[in-house]
Amino acid sequence: MDSFEQLKQDCSNCSRCILGATRKNLVFGTGNEHSDLVFVGEGPGEKEDQQGIPFVGPAGQLLDVMLKLIGLRREDVYICNIVKCRPPQNRDPAPDEREACSQWLQRQLALIDPKIIVCLGRISATSLISPTFKITKEHGQWYEIDGRKVIATYHPSALLRDVSKRPEAFADFREIRSALRALGHPCDPLSFYSSENKETENDPVL
Ligand code: URA
Repeated sequence: MDSFEQLKQDCSNCSRCILGATRKNLVFGTGNEHSDLVFVGEGPGEKEDQQGIPFVGPAGQLLDVMLKLIGLRREDVYICNIVKCRPPQNRDPAPDEREACSQWLQRQLALIDPKIIVCLGRISATSLISPTFKITKEHGQWYEIDGRKVIATYHPSALLRDVSKRPEAFADFREIRSALRALGHPCDPLSFYSSENKETENDPVL
């Protein structure tokens, strides 16, 4: 059985595709390794590559706000990407690069064993749900894959470019909140305004 540290170590030595040669840092993933909820983005951008942490740039700041709206902090969930090394000039990761990297994500998911996976954007959804996935038509719908609930929503970068998509994305996040509540997580936005943040502190999984 993999341990997270071992897996990350093995991943940092990966040479299954060319992206490892040009990256500054491996961007393996961050957050709660026991969470019921995992977000999967596309691949690291410049800021992520510099810091070795996913979603720390402008898109990540928007993701933090959206999490907060459904009563979550980024430490409550696990956040990672389809590819763990930055594609040069932020191009889309190529199909062979996604394929080469998929074993790391699958092993991560096996260790975390989340109940819910959220695909952020087209690249993630076409990799994890279906190669023909259409984000504009099929976001917000639930799929069952390997015993987990999987949903896709717009990538936060798309929401930065086109604010008109935000209401649909917020509706998707409300879907995610309902699914978490059905699992017994309170997801109470007001918990952030209580001085001790009791709701999330008392939730051992999220
Ligand atoms: N976009 C992504 O898909 N992932 C990141 O980590 C940052 C931006």
